[in-house]
Amino acid sequence: MENDPLVFDVNIAKEKPNSYRKVKNQADCPFCEVDQLSNIYRQKGDMIWLRNKYPTLRDTLQTVLIESSDHQGDLTTYSQQQNRELLRFSLECFNLLRSEGKYRSILWYKNFGPQSGGSLVHPHMQIVGLKKQDGYHYVSERNFQGITLFDDRNVEVNIAQYPIQGYVEFNVNLHNNQGLDVWADWIQTCAKYLLNVLSNGRCDSYNLFFYPRQKEAICAKLIARFSASPYFVGYKLSQVDNDEKLVIEAEQLKQFYQKQQV
Ligand SMILES: [Zn+2]
Repeated sequence: MENDPLVFDVNIAKEKPNSYRKVKNQADCPFCEVDQLSNIYRQKGDMIWLRNKYPTLRDTLQTVLIESSDHQGDLTTYSQQQNRELLRFSLECFNLLRSEGKYRSILWYKNFGPQSGGSLVHPHMQIVGLKKQDGYHYVSERNFQGITLFDDRNVEVNIAQYPIQGYVEFNVNLHNNQGLDVWADWIQTCAKYLLNVLSNGRCDSYNLFFYPRQKEAICAKLIARFSASPYFVGYKLSQVDNDEKLVIEAEQLKQFYQKQQV
């Protein structure tokens, strides 16, 4: 059971309209047509949490959290306040599903950009309940650790020394809910850094994953996405930069954060 893959159900998937995957322009975007949405669980301003209309994975509950009414929006373009509200709201939704106790594990993540594995441009997160699998089976505490560049006000930020995939993964660790705003600001800063500074701006995609830890503690992990390395694809071997490089990157990210705060 532990090593079983998630099953993509072709029978459900074929009901999904073609345009869903091929949405190129805003006119065809299902998340822009708010009055057409159904099975809404919660709504706050233009943030909407709802059941995924076209679930494709067997033995799961797939839900979608629309972040904004702005089709081109992203963590990197929201105001500081908007980003903080989004992270608070999505954490509430995630915790609500956890409190139902119906799922063996619950995943919460988002994709951004062409290399991220997402199918729709419109900014959204996914919260997915797995009935049978432990989604965290391959993830361990040391994946959340690394070279620390910030440790204050209930938040610790590091560059992973034991990344899940590699190369570059930023961990934004929240110790408890008192640090929520600082945590949100750091997630936003890391996303901006990935798209604008890392590799001289060559990175156009990222994933953001949230891993619940003890009590209120949670790790938000931003992974810079490039084509996946064959070492990972073929052998599950992750790669990481050498420590000297990680230290330089950590210092740059710290300076970038300080500039954003001015
Ligand atoms: Zn849209």
